[in-house]
Amino acid sequence: MAILIDGRAVAKEINENTAERVTRLANEGIIPGLAVILVGEDPASKIYTRMKDKKAKKLGIHSVLSVYPDDVRQEELLHDIRQFNEDKMINGILIQEPLPDHLDGNELLNAIDPHKDVDGFHPYNVGLLYSNANENYPVSCTPKGIMSLLKHYQVKLEGARAVVVGRSILVGKPMAALLENANATVTIANRHTRNLSEITRQADVLVVAAGVKHLITGEMVKKGATVIDVGIHRLEDKTLTGDVDFESVAPIAKMITPVPGGVGPMTIATLMEQTVDLTEWSHNG
Ligand code: NAD
Repeated sequence: MAILIDGRAVAKEINENTAERVTRLANEGIIPGLAVILVGEDPASKIYTRMKDKKAKKLGIHSVLSVYPDDVRQEELLHDIRQFNEDKMINGILIQEPLPDHLDGNELLNAIDPHKDVDGFHPYNVGLLYSNANENYPVSCTPKGIMSLLKHYQVKLEGARAVVVGRSILVGKPMAALLENANATVTIANRHTRNLSEITRQADVLVVAAGVKHLITGEMVKKGATVIDVGIHRLEDKTLTGDVDFESVAPIAKMITPVPGGVGPMTIATLMEQTVDLTEWSHNG
């Protein structure tokens, strides 16, 4: 039976470390600041932004939650983003997705100062990720959190065969880039991929972010692989499950993330960690 990768425990460690860093900064008179932009009434977005706001405050981060009605004008958001760019109290800015259709999300994202782009989605930071730049830059929090998990559990990436199922801007693409930067040999699968199981069976490290419940079953996994399940699906009985069929995969894998309690807790912890990173980078030149 596979070792369970405990995302809650690793996230707790990261949060403790973040709180210590916030205290150190406070001793120098610096308080990290996070601005979260929420548009509309999407229930999941409301929950996520509230969680982020609460966690930030708990860690001593100055948190601003800016809430706008569904019909807010693009100009108003652009104006406020520019104000956050200028605001010395704010080090990280994020726009909660999804946005209503009338808004141009790309234009809003591009308006964020790349040095305050705490989600790492700005093309400038995506470019740094793909050029494997030897400098400090933010990266999408879910894949960055997965890298922290892999590091914590000492999963060897150099020379490893890694397969990422899914190629979203949010998870799959940055995940593949991070693994590649860590010298793994990476294959990315998408919904058009033929013979998916032939590819996934080659993976020493398999990251699944397809948004398809139980897409990966035991016979698709190589014995001894490390399996990271990013998917989140709510079942009728209200419990959560992932893109990986845990029951059939866990006996074959060497290590596996559960859902819930695997990748999920890492995302917000990484967001907070990265808010402090941005603060430190901005003060260190
Ligand atoms: P998305 O829908 O934007 O992208 C899914 C990707 O998977 C696409 O690139 C698609 O081509 C690919 N795909 C779909 N079916 C496939 C198949 N049969 N074979 C191969 N590839 C396939 O989704 P996303 O935003 O990347 O999220 C993926 C999942 O992760 C969702 O369940 C989402 O809820 C979850 N998620 C969790 C966290 C977290 O913090 N735990 C964060 C982000 C997303």
